[in-house]
Amino acid sequence: MILNGKVALVTGSTSGIGLAIARALASKGARLMINGFGDADEIAAIADDLGAIHDGADMSDPDAIGRMLDRCAAELGGPDILVNNAGIQHVAPVDSFPPEKWDAIIAINLSAVFHTTRHALPEMKAKGWGRVINTASAHSLVASPNKSAYVAAKHGVAGFTKTAALETARDGVTVNCISPGYVWTPLVENQIPDTMQARGLTREQVMNDVLLAAQPTKQFVTPEQVAALAVFLCRDEAASITGANISMDGGWTAA
Ligand code: NAD
Repeated sequence: MILNGKVALVTGSTSGIGLAIARALASKGARLMINGFGDADEIAAIADDLGAIHDGADMSDPDAIGRMLDRCAAELGGPDILVNNAGIQHVAPVDSFPPEKWDAIIAINLSAVFHTTRHALPEMKAKGWGRVINTASAHSLVASPNKSAYVAAKHGVAGFTKTAALETARDGVTVNCISPGYVWTPLVENQIPDTMQARGLTREQVMNDVLLAAQPTKQFVTPEQVAALAVFLCRDEAASITGANISMDGGWTAA
């Protein structure tokens, strides 16, 4: 129970990677605030299972983010561990990319990382211990066609991570990002129809020639693998890892 006494806030943790990270942190003793959308009964069951508080703040709304961080401090303390994980995707060529989708992706995938972190840092610095872990993506390092907003946002997350790490390096606070390759979650499943349309491919071709082909292992990364790395970054042994963008992508960016 290496995280006994720690409070963790995981954004976008009602599904996929964030849910796995929340489960892993809770299993190590952290008290959790979870966040994200979904079926109310399912979210209540997840919160019950993890002994967590759910806050439904929309990560595109800076005021709601501020209220969520205030609530976390008042009801749980902290957070000592902030995992910026909420994210959305939209697949379309630049010249037909809907501007409102661009704005939403930049707000949720990038600007929210700034807003949560700016609220959480003062208490982490005062305590002399903190962990900020940002779920970036292989797309923080390499591009794919038809994902301009997502690629821009994730490159931004990597740059923000490095800058915040430098600012907090003397405060016992580490700031890192994890960059997974493809993980089979609703975010990936939902982009298949648009990818089929944008590239003129069948579903099977998208699965084999786009998703699995990106990764030399020819396997999806699992949410549990990402979660295990997040737990490691919370350990005291990881205190010298800061400003890093850690790939977990089956060799995608190496290739
Ligand atoms: P997912 O769709 O399973 O989960 C996304 C989570 O974010 C959900 O809990 C959802 O409710 C929440 N969310 C979405 N919009 C929100 C908003 N406006 N406010 C609050 N919460 C919101 O997707 P996932 O694949 O688990 O993605 C999690 C993160 O991992 C994202 O940042 C994504 O970019 C990143 N990522 C995913 C993959 C992948 O292949 N699945 C690869 C690399 C990085």
